[in-house]
Amino acid sequence: MYICWKCKKSIKQLDESFVRCPYCGCRALFKERQPIAKEVKAD
Ligand SMILES: [Zn+2]
Repeated sequence: MYICWKCKKSIKQLDESFVRCPYCGCRALFKERQPIAKEVKAD
């Protein structure tokens, strides 16, 4: 999943030949980190 830099909307599907936000047309997207539970050190 990707997040648009400009409008902060999440884009589930991205065509490799059409990498831009379908909402605002912004071409700056970044990958959203998967919400995986991180390992926490109980120190
Ligand atoms: Zn956008």
